[in-house]
Amino acid sequence: MKCDVCGKKVEITFLSKVVGAYMKNDKRKKKLVCSECQKTYSKKDLLKKL
Ligand SMILES: [Zn+2]
Repeated sequence: MKCDVCGKKVEITFLSKVVGAYMKNDKRKKKLVCSECQKTYSKKDLLKKL
């Protein structure tokens, strides 16, 4: 799995959860955002990038 903002690999925990979050962009597509990008950007900025 890759982050849809920075393109870095997103780790998956042993419980098959991604270390990050899923967000829906304005085209209602599910996008993966890593924890780093969540810290760096606000939700509004992230939605602009997705
Ligand atoms: Zn990222």
